Amino acid sequence: MSFDRNYKDSRILVTGGAGFIGSHLSERLLAAGAEVVCADNYFTGSRKNIAHLLSNPMFEAIRHDVTFPLYIEVDAIFNLACPASPIHYQRDPVQTTKTSVHGAINMLGLAKRLRAPIFQASTSEIYGDPLIHPQTEDYWGNVNPIGIRSCYDEGKRCAETLFFDYWRQHSLPIKVARIFNTYGPRMQPNDGRVVSSFIVQALRGEPITVFGDGGQSRSFCYVDDLVEAITRLMLTGDDCTGPINLGNNSEFTILELAEKVISYTNSRSKLIFKPLPQDDPRQRQPDLSKAKALLNWEPKVPLADGLKETIAYFKRTLD
Ligand code: NAD
Ligand code: UDP
Ligand code: UDP
Repeated sequence: MSFDRNYKDSRILVTGGAGFIGSHLSERLLAAGAEVVCADNYFTGSRKNIAHLLSNPMFEAIRHDVTFPLYIEVDAIFNLACPASPIHYQRDPVQTTKTSVHGAINMLGLAKRLRAPIFQASTSEIYGDPLIHPQTEDYWGNVNPIGIRSCYDEGKRCAETLFFDYWRQHSLPIKVARIFNTYGPRMQPNDGRVVSSFIVQALRGEPITVFGDGGQSRSFCYVDDLVEAITRLMLTGDDCTGPINLGNNSEFTILELAEKVISYTNSRSKLIFKPLPQDDPRQRQPDLSKAKALLNWEPKVPLADGLKETIAYFKRTLD
């Protein structure tokens, strides 16, 4: 097996492969002819997400926590292991930082031994509550180091530091993507993220919980678009390290999102307003110039279409 910038006949490790994005990525890699090893401790992922892949002889799932060393032979590594929704990453914040930092060290150590390219699922949270808009990769961010989101934000920032030090010190081929809010089928219905929460509430006729005045903004990317970008990034040359913003640059307020979800589900749900969580970023929109230039990629799926797909998924799974 080898990894020659083509997935065919390569063996690829996907950590967090039983999660929302990881399961879509695993599917895409299998379709491209790769063998996929999924390593996941099922903290927020689910065996259901990969159940349809288990009979594929090119797919293998191992129960593994990335805070512990992993000795296997692969040609490339996608490091996605980490809870991503605030209620999940705040449930055990110490473990969240350990997953980001020890997880990165172990996966970088594995990549170093194998001389294998390694992708890091970094995040727009690197920018914190951003003071420039839209966010470009050269912005250093505005992050509270001791708040309730810090375990995730600072963990991911430290992971970026480690990636760039392994690159400088050990010439490791790294690919760091700063992923902005992504949604789609296989989000967990109870993970508290805004898209899944609003859809589930609307389908059940429950009140839609808008935090704050709903004037804060996010830019939502459909998972298929994101996976396309991630798989392209891994195939770039060694000089293409990132960090590179990946997401969708169509920006919506949370109120606009709520209205769309109510309309596409024909729901009678009413809005209720709840306190804004601490350190909740006010606005967020990626500058995607770098992704367009380096990957010849831009997101294609408009929010309306992606929401309809996601609503159809939740209708099927909630029934
Ligand atoms: P997810 O929670 O569905 O997936 C994360 C997966 O990692 C889960 O399967 C979970 O069980 C696994 N995991 C957690 N801790 C682990 C550990 N210590 N060892 C092994 N596995 C572990 O979340 P997602 O939305 O699919 O996010 C995937 C990655 O993308 C994460 O690293 C996240 O930080 C990043 N990201 C996601 C978004 C988004 O909007 N979805 C945005 C920015 C970054
Ligand atoms: N590691 C791993 N798998 C490997 C090689 C290393 O999990 O195949 C882990 C190991 O736990 C190590 C970490 O990666 O502590 C960092 O490895 P590195 O070689 O950078 O550092 P060192 O072994 O010198 O501490
Ligand atoms: N949000 C909301 N109601 C919810 C869940 C989230 O109004 O039930 C808001 C939240 O305060 C934030 C935005 O929606 O401003 C996105 O939240 P999410 O947790 O999905 O992502 P993140 O804050 O990490 O971007």
